[in-house]
Amino acid sequence: MQYMVRLDDITPYMDRAKFAAVKAVLDKYGIRPVIGVVPECKDKSIYGAEDKRYEEAEYIALIEELKDNGWVIAQHGTEHVYKTEDSGLLGINPFSEFSGLSYEEQYDKLKRGLNKLNEAGIKPDLFMAPGHSFDLNTLKALKELGFKALTDGLYNNPYIREGILFVPCTLTAYSRLKGTDTVCLHPNMMDENDVAELDAFLSEHRNEAICYDYEKLYAMAKEYGPLISSAEANALKMRQKRDKAANSPKLSNYLVYTNHPNRVIKMIKRVFLSPLLLTGKFDDIDKTK
Ligand SMILES: [Zn+2]
Repeated sequence: MQYMVRLDDITPYMDRAKFAAVKAVLDKYGIRPVIGVVPECKDKSIYGAEDKRYEEAEYIALIEELKDNGWVIAQHGTEHVYKTEDSGLLGINPFSEFSGLSYEEQYDKLKRGLNKLNEAGIKPDLFMAPGHSFDLNTLKALKELGFKALTDGLYNNPYIREGILFVPCTLTAYSRLKGTDTVCLHPNMMDENDVAELDAFLSEHRNEAICYDYEKLYAMAKEYGPLISSAEANALKMRQKRDKAANSPKLSNYLVYTNHPNRVIKMIKRVFLSPLLLTGKFDDIDKTK
């Protein structure tokens, strides 16, 4: 297993103390993450409290410092405001700033954000889609604008699609990371426990951390290339099944009822009680008691 770390929702409006706490842990282990900078953030749901945000000059100095220290800057959308209910190619969230919009609309919006970053001396080749949602038009526009890669992908190896390198970010728990993956963190939402959990993980797995390196990841994608479309399709199918299960009260009642801390007992309960799914037993919570 090898992993990168990415920090989402980097804006002048983020909670500076929370960001500083995460940065301190990453610095302690010499981790250089990918950071998703939102060029024109208009999404108030990712703002920190008013008195905790950065002053403009201080934010500019912070980004400069991170850049000088080898942190990799990705463009994280443009406004970070969800405009559609389209979950795009990965089907992770039913909302997007981009997918579902026309190519022209997406291109113009992406370019506006990119220009803003360019003006600040930032020239990203990596894109981070808000909500992990993007479609084929997004990929086409990104390519046209000179982006080479995006930090998303549900497979455990980098792969290439529509000429764009997908750097896997399977959104799994620390304990289930495998292959090449990315740990996705939102510093603005992290409390002390989350920071402590990150610290514990890094202290144990410091040697498996890698930094985003387009050439190296591209070479890996080339090597494993032919596996990709079916592997991604399978990962998508699995996720859709899981989402479907999560949305079905009957299935989720069954999963809760048959849960057990011992894996073997859990499996036995699930196998033996599964025929009851055909009856009304798990239709509502009361009957499962
Ligand atoms: Zn975000």
